[in-house]
Amino acid sequence: MAVNRSRKLFEEAKKYIPGGVNSPVRSLKSVGLSPIFIRKAKGSKIYDEEGKEFIDYCMSWGALILGHAYPETIRAVKAAAERGTSYGTATRAEIELARMISEAVPSMEQVRLVNSGTEAVMSAVRLARACTGRNKILKFEGSYHGHADYLLVKAGSGLAGHGLAASAGVPADFIRQTLVAPYNDLKKTEEIIKRNRKDLAAVIVEPVLANCGVIPPKPGFLEGLRAITEREDILLIFDEVITGFRLSYGGAQEYFGIRPDLTCLGKIVGGGFPLAAFGGRKKIMELLSPLGEVYQAGTLSGNPVAVSAGISVLRILKKTSPYEKMRARTSILAGIISDTGRRCGVQLKISAAASLFSIFFTAEEVTDFGKAQTQNLKLFGKFYRNMIEENIYLSPSGFESNFLSLAHTGKDIEKTAEAVEKSLKKMRG
Ligand code: PMP
Repeated sequence: MAVNRSRKLFEEAKKYIPGGVNSPVRSLKSVGLSPIFIRKAKGSKIYDEEGKEFIDYCMSWGALILGHAYPETIRAVKAAAERGTSYGTATRAEIELARMISEAVPSMEQVRLVNSGTEAVMSAVRLARACTGRNKILKFEGSYHGHADYLLVKAGSGLAGHGLAASAGVPADFIRQTLVAPYNDLKKTEEIIKRNRKDLAAVIVEPVLANCGVIPPKPGFLEGLRAITEREDILLIFDEVITGFRLSYGGAQEYFGIRPDLTCLGKIVGGGFPLAAFGGRKKIMELLSPLGEVYQAGTLSGNPVAVSAGISVLRILKKTSPYEKMRARTSILAGIISDTGRRCGVQLKISAAASLFSIFFTAEEVTDFGKAQTQNLKLFGKFYRNMIEENIYLSPSGFESNFLSLAHTGKDIEKTAEAVEKSLKKMRG
């Protein structure tokens, strides 16, 4: 069986790589499995080391909106690699990608290219601190903004605003600079902001919370954040690492009609390569070295191969605007899963936004991190394992999003629907 070969590789991997993986969720530990080793991928499918095919809803955590190994991207990447894989100096293609980003997301008047979402967020926060001369930032419970020390903060006890470190090795002093508010609770957020207005550099938000399942903003929440940050002269950072080029070509800010001061992008913008970006008003961005005093740099930043992949993907998204089609397909799948849950007598809630969706095994409507924690993770694990047996690879945690791509066909949806039915029926029995 496929799992056996993956198990063998896992044993080997564990000798040299801590936990056998280079990023923790890949371990599949939380769903009671071990990693599935992938040999290749195409379109909506991934193939493990034994050639077993899975319909993939993880899609490299949302990076691959066009599907795996999209022909035009592969052509662009091959051509770029032939011309050299890295120069460590300026290239014309970087201007083109920055221009495309800026035209798609007008609040990003200027853009810096970096290598990961973590780096984009770290740099945006540093810039916000330099720009305002203040140190504190406010994030939301259940959001993930990469693994910088001061962002690894769990939900605190609500009103107090201060959180606890979610990782060992993070000095308590760093965490003191990070306030935490409940997502979708404008009143509490405003209270925390008002109490800390003199120390607060920025509010950072995932416009759609997508790192504890999918939690869309309630009407007025993002608008309220924009209004209060503007009033208090605090910067608003949209972390669009997931929502950028996914909710719409202009990201969540176009979708919801809100203009943040700074934006972080990742995933789709790099077309499946290690590339991310941050940007905002020219006046703020010009604080960056070599013009200003804020240092930020990278040996491989603006890497020509990654840039060529990003450009190819953005060109296709701009030309074809597949957003409505993907949203409709996601909504059909979400509807099917909901109905099947009802028919099978399994309590679940589907949460979706554009082509993002997640399945919570809970009776409650999930509107914040607290509600997401009411889900039955044991049931999720069972469901997950059943789906793997049916050759469907979902994102491997109840606290992650699933991603549809342009490559997912009606037939994929049909097969997934059948798999959901079988998986839920098994759980009932
Ligand atoms: N911000 C958000 C909203 C994310 O979802 C992620 C990663 N999933 C990051 C930042 C960090 O990006 P990376 O993993 O590329 O460092």
